[in-house]
Amino acid sequence: ELANRMAERGADLVKSLFKMGMPVTVNQVIDQDTAELLVTEFGHNINRVSDSDVDLTTHDDVDADETLQARPPVVTIMGHVDHGKTSLLDALRGTDVATGEAGGITQHIGAYQVTLKSGDKITFLDTPGHEAFSEMRARGANVTDIVVIVVAGDDGLRPQTIEAINHTKAAGVPMIIAINKMDKPGSNPQRVREALLQYDVQVESMGGEVQEVEVSALKRTGLEELIDKIQLQAEILELRANPERAAEGTVIEAKLDKGRGPVATILVRRGTLRVGDVFVVGMESGKVRAMVDDRGQQVKEALPSMPVEVLGLTGVPHAGDQLSVVENEARAREVAEYRQSVATAKRTTSAPASLESMFAGLNASKAAEYPVVVKGDVQGSVEAIVGSLTKLGNDDIRVRVLHSGVGGITESDVTLAAASRAPIIGFNVRANAKAREIAQRDGVALKYYDVIYDLIDEIRAAMAGQLGPEY
Ligand code: GDP
Repeated sequence: ELANRMAERGADLVKSLFKMGMPVTVNQVIDQDTAELLVTEFGHNINRVSDSDVDLTTHDDVDADETLQARPPVVTIMGHVDHGKTSLLDALRGTDVATGEAGGITQHIGAYQVTLKSGDKITFLDTPGHEAFSEMRARGANVTDIVVIVVAGDDGLRPQTIEAINHTKAAGVPMIIAINKMDKPGSNPQRVREALLQYDVQVESMGGEVQEVEVSALKRTGLEELIDKIQLQAEILELRANPERAAEGTVIEAKLDKGRGPVATILVRRGTLRVGDVFVVGMESGKVRAMVDDRGQQVKEALPSMPVEVLGLTGVPHAGDQLSVVENEARAREVAEYRQSVATAKRTTSAPASLESMFAGLNASKAAEYPVVVKGDVQGSVEAIVGSLTKLGNDDIRVRVLHSGVGGITESDVTLAAASRAPIIGFNVRANAKAREIAQRDGVALKYYDVIYDLIDEIRAAMAGQLGPEY
């Protein structure tokens, strides 16, 4: 890449490096000082550029206000297993006035968009659950604008309901509570509303600000009201994007299709994605050969908040990867290669994060909150730990418990922690194999303790160490 930029031959650079005593290959990543030396040696001027010149994901160019237009909200549905997430997604899909019109059959592409009678649209991610949500967030993809938390009226708040609430809060995304199964005689919505107070969720009828709605996914009641509330929330959020620019989007899901090759569902964030566009997506690149919407229809273009399956990729990207349209194929390859080299460098140098390095990152960003996830063997100790941790702070920093609970450390705990760059504290409990694997991959610190005093002491010391002598 350096050779390209200097319009020199790669082989000449390699030769030069050999002479300096650095036996390298043409694809090897060299450090900045060596690169500078080499550039001078070849008689070129050094122009230090930031990663953002090649790494499109760090581009945070803001679209001018006058280019922005309203875009549909992107909604994720979460809640406890069997509380009706899938049924609700199906029922909401049925409210689409456009379904059937074009004779299309609904396709599972990871997201769908409904068109309302008014012509307004809403996009639903149809992989329900908070793991997928936080996985995406851990990859830097905050695609969800609004979360609908489903609670079965006959069952009330359950562990995954609490997890869903905490994941949503950690993401800072507004929630709407849908009390489902209202057709069931045993449903008691008032009990749900009261129980929510315990978790700092105050719904409107209890004097709070969180919107709520009673529904039955089975009997399809309350759906219009739920849609109204989603639209109201969307209005408050003033969701807008510039449709007139090179498209950027996020991978919702991706797979290798037997007949069609690598396909990825892209949710367009801004700009308009068109057939023929050249793009980079994660470490892959490509050219849009065809696009298929959630009804299986071929489309020529996709506007902001619209999910489409894209064909024409060089390989299968990961969910959460960013897609950026670029000017030509050479540029696409350059960016994809750069990303690959960064990923390789990271893989060889990154060790699992320690509590200290987590604090270091925190200090650098001057965040006033230190997020943690706490798991313990019994309710009493979890409460005691959360109580003591909350008291630890001072004016500069305080602990924020994202989630706490009884039981071993699970996948869900790790994805939540990863998304907020928080360590997980295990008191007399350990992480299961799957959780350990994800923690390792995402660099989440797992800290085990069996004495509360040690736990508090260690965190206090780490905080003091980072904040310096004024603490
Ligand atoms: P999920 O695990 O949250 O996706 O839940 P499902 O949508 O699979 O629903 C679990 C079960 O609850 C299924 O047997 C559904 O038929 C049933 N169910 C979902 N919504 C309702 C509802 O509004 N009323 C009643 N009576 N049953 C429902």
